[in-house]
Amino acid sequence: MNISYYSTNGRAERVDFRRALLAGQAPDKGLYMPEEIPLLSGEEILRFPGMSYPEIAYSVLRHYLEDLIPKGDLKDLLEDAYNYDIPVEKVYDGKYVVRLDRGPTCSFKDFAARLMGRLIQYFLRQEGRRIAILTATSGDTGSAVAQAFYGLDNIDVVVLFPRKEVTERQRRQMTTLGKNVHATAVDGKFDDCQALVKQAFADPDLRNLSLSSANSINIGRLLPQAVYYFYAFSRASSGDEAVISVPSGNFGDIMGGLIAMRMGLPVRKFIAATNENDEFPRFMETGEYSPIRPSKNCISNAMNVGHPSNLARVFALYGGEMDETGVVRKQPDISAMRRDIFAVSISDEETRQTIKDIYRDHGVILEPHGAVGWAGLARYLKETDDWSPCFSLETADPAKFPDEIISLIGVNPNVPEVMSKLDCLEERYDGLEGSYTALKSYLIRVLPRV
Ligand SMILES: *Cc1c(COP(=O)(O)O)cnc(C)c1O
Repeated sequence: MNISYYSTNGRAERVDFRRALLAGQAPDKGLYMPEEIPLLSGEEILRFPGMSYPEIAYSVLRHYLEDLIPKGDLKDLLEDAYNYDIPVEKVYDGKYVVRLDRGPTCSFKDFAARLMGRLIQYFLRQEGRRIAILTATSGDTGSAVAQAFYGLDNIDVVVLFPRKEVTERQRRQMTTLGKNVHATAVDGKFDDCQALVKQAFADPDLRNLSLSSANSINIGRLLPQAVYYFYAFSRASSGDEAVISVPSGNFGDIMGGLIAMRMGLPVRKFIAATNENDEFPRFMETGEYSPIRPSKNCISNAMNVGHPSNLARVFALYGGEMDETGVVRKQPDISAMRRDIFAVSISDEETRQTIKDIYRDHGVILEPHGAVGWAGLARYLKETDDWSPCFSLETADPAKFPDEIISLIGVNPNVPEVMSKLDCLEERYDGLEGSYTALKSYLIRVLPRV
């Protein structure tokens, strides 16, 4: 099957996966979406419990990739990308935490970045081309992307991060690499970094730098994020419809889940749990969307997003249209959205209380993002008495937030080796004032013309 990809803004031509992947954003500034979403059979999904993560990934993703990548090559890419543990940890009666934090940068973003990096390299090799990845990060994307692309010979990487909004460990994961990775501290917020990136993509003067994005707007990051929903389900459900809580910022993670659901994963409800940046929960309540500018600084810092770019895709999935600035051009089917998604905003105070409670009651250590997810699940269970199998995603390793965790529960989380190594490496990064002219001359200076 040859799936093509349309732009959520509806003013760009349809392209195949390879072109959508290498372009990142569509030329009309929309996001690419698959024209059709393949449906897996119930029997196929019931075979997943006996399969490894790379095997499940193959079953899910082959529908999107099989006419572009031969079976053997795709299997190799998946085996190579997913070589780490994915614990599905029981907390109590049918309630699970899915630990997506065991990759090389200890956040769930490794799932997407590692496969996307390998896919991009695969296609570029075929074409003998070179590109530059320009990405904005609120903390974890940048490091996952930098890691995933580090040392690849036909790709340069520029990562913009908000100078004051990332933790030291998050920063070190980007700044200690070097080689083809340029880490850049911007005086501004994550939303400013993201706006700068968008402006660069739209700038005809930069066309000869062959810029591509690796943000959650890239379709190559979205599709791999459908896979772990199938995996978690296969490891802990008897086949009953699941409730899945997703700590959400830019809504790429939950968008992967919504795609999994359209592909046939039995889901009763997704919980979109945001921090105090509650523009989506408010939309679900009122039907009116207004971005939060500037975004609020919460302790779940990778979710401090005042206008999630993937909402354009969520809207598209439900028949609506949202442009890149957050203007709703066509209202989605909000009752269908409410049937599938329970949206909830969790305050920092509740997030902290959740970290204390789940440790005291169950001995489980969560960091702030995972705690937002768990608190969202608790809120849902209180309101609905639903006894489906429930999954809450833990999206980062608690060791990324040691101060917070120690002050709340008095325990210093174990530091994984991939992280402790960073403390003795030298950091190297550039600084940038938050203006587009500054970014433009910086890009022209550090990137090769192609
Ligand atoms: C990026 C991130 C999120 C939010 O994921 P989105 O796809 O942006 O909704 C949650 N937790 C962590 C640790 C992250 O890095």
